Amino acid sequence: MPRMLPGIESLDHHQALLESTPDAYKPERCPHCGKAGLHRHGHYERNAPRGEGVSLAVGRLIILRFFCPACRRTCSRLPACLSPWRQYWWACQQTVVERLSAEASVRAVARETRPSRRTIGRWRRWIAGRFDEHSLHLRSRFAELGRAVGWQAFWSRCFKTLRLSEAMGWVERLGVAVP
Ligand SMILES: [Zn+2]
Repeated sequence: MPRMLPGIESLDHHQALLESTPDAYKPERCPHCGKAGLHRHGHYERNAPRGEGVSLAVGRLIILRFFCPACRRTCSRLPACLSPWRQYWWACQQTVVERLSAEASVRAVARETRPSRRTIGRWRRWIAGRFDEHSLHLRSRFAELGRAVGWQAFWSRCFKTLRLSEAMGWVERLGVAVP
């Protein structure tokens, strides 16, 4: 079960949805047992990610939790703009990957953006190391990505069609672990 709800590309959108139609976050089926009929079951809070001038005002983020009466387990879904594990927005990670794809060095990107050199180095190893897996899945869905050779050319091309959040949403739906 994908953890990211597609189409929610900003925190404002997330907050508005929580107030107007929180059930938009409700999975159709339980990710544990596959049965339908989940219902809302409180929430948890998560630190708002750093980066790109939004974090100061935000503080903490509300993530809804859902309960499955069939197997009595809970699950939750994140807005697409939020990386499941990293404390940075996808948009911030995209900026970094875009610069690295344009052959900028880790050191140069660290001077221009918020994440540290170490973090950017780790992201570079991730995006380069997962290239085969990411490109296999994304190329099967988006034929226009087909001709790029190497991870830098691939992602440069990919960002003309998709945001990193969308690309990661796609691969996650196909069962790939995303950070
Ligand atoms: Zn269940």
